[in-house]
Amino acid sequence: MNNNHFLVIANWKMKLSFKETLKLTKFLKQKTKKFKNELIICPSFPFLNEVFKIIKGSKIKLGAQNTFWEMKGSYTGEVSPKVLKEIGCRYVILGHSERRRYFHESDHDINKKVKAALKVGLIPILCVGETEQERRFGQRDFVVRRQLEVTLQGVTNFSSLIIAYEPVWAIGTGKVAHPKDACYAHSFILNFVKKRFGKKAKNVKIIYGGSINEKNIQGFLGHALIQGTLIGGASQKEKSFYNILKVINQEI
Ligand code: PEP
Repeated sequence: MNNNHFLVIANWKMKLSFKETLKLTKFLKQKTKKFKNELIICPSFPFLNEVFKIIKGSKIKLGAQNTFWEMKGSYTGEVSPKVLKEIGCRYVILGHSERRRYFHESDHDINKKVKAALKVGLIPILCVGETEQERRFGQRDFVVRRQLEVTLQGVTNFSSLIIAYEPVWAIGTGKVAHPKDACYAHSFILNFVKKRFGKKAKNVKIIYGGSINEKNIQGFLGHALIQGTLIGGASQKEKSFYNILKVINQEI
């Protein structure tokens, strides 16, 4: 396949210590010198600055796992998008299902975060996807449409946007979506963004996330509708992540 722009995003969640984060970052920097695609790593907040120093000048780019919607103020414990930009982040994951579930983030909250991120030049990695129950009741399209409508409300001015289709039932469960189902959901999202953004839809990348590993990654390659992947668990260990990157590099 002649497409060198398969996007790989590693979500390290709250899984790695400082030492483990630096070790994995150095390993990836070393191993991806010939990687032909795009690689973004998203470590915990406190490690961002140190990780940035390591990857500076390499092919790896930096992303945060969340941000607040205000730039500055009395918001104890929150992190400003402006600060993320200042310390080297280019991307930020927004609306991850774990944020929605454990921190009760609503689509309206996520919408404010998307706009704040764009305002400072961060590229949002906006996560959408249905739960197991919603899937069982055939509500996938309805749920994804509602999430997109609200989280993208008033969003007009962007040069780049990533939408990650992440079915909640597939995240961290070992139950990966069938690539055909992912393609269906991606085409649904693509139609939405085309209607919503017109020509600007070409600046939107749609990627899949949920239990990707070294065995199943192959099935997600070579589909025009799948432009990349967001990986949690399998991106947190040298061996499994490197094996995934090797498969992608050969295939693309
Ligand atoms: C994620 O956290 O976005 C994710 C896709 O996790 P996992 O790969 O572990 O399912």
